[in-house]
Amino acid sequence: MHFRKLKLSGFKSFVEPAELHIEAGLTGIVGPNGCGKSNLLEAIRWVMGENSPKSLRSGGMEDVIFAGTAQRPPRDFAEVILNAIDSEGEELQVTRRIERGAGSAYRVNGRDVRAKDVALTFADAATGAHSPALVSQGKIAAVIAAKPAERRQMLEEAAGIAGLHVRRRDAESK
Ligand code: ATP
Ligand code: MG
Repeated sequence: MHFRKLKLSGFKSFVEPAELHIEAGLTGIVGPNGCGKSNLLEAIRWVMGENSPKSLRSGGMEDVIFAGTAQRPPRDFAEVILNAIDSEGEELQVTRRIERGAGSAYRVNGRDVRAKDVALTFADAATGAHSPALVSQGKIAAVIAAKPAERRQMLEEAAGIAGLHVRRRDAESK
């Protein structure tokens, strides 16, 4: 799978709609402190299903919505759209939207889906929100500082078997 395009609206500091084309190969994000580099990585994680406040540097789910500044009122929703080419070469568009007081909703190729379906979509490509494909500031330190069980999970993900667990949980819940 590879990512082609990221669209954000009302997500953290990206209050105005922003669209980024992701070219093949290595992408670097540069800019001054506080310009939103980490927010972009968090937007990718978030649209892939991330819900952990720690991973999103937020207290609660709605903290990803633009909170307003002295000059601008807050927004009441955040939306992130990720376009990718999946492992079969098919176009894939995943949308996640959160509204204040209404929680989040996902769409895949325009169709309403469950969070679990999105997790499975990315698990199949071993590119989940926690996969080694997304390495953030502090991640190396986290591996060193992790408790054995956490470190095992990180290594399992690095080995690309995390998707199997999602599918096993899915099978067990049926
Ligand atoms: P550094 O180089 O220091 O790592 P960065 O480019 O990674 O900086 P980010 O951490 O992505 O910057 O962006 C931080 C900015 O995003 C801060 O100005 C913060 O106020 C803003 N921000 C985060 N969440 C929200 C929100 N919900 N609403 C409005 N602004 C937000
Ligand atoms: Mg940063």
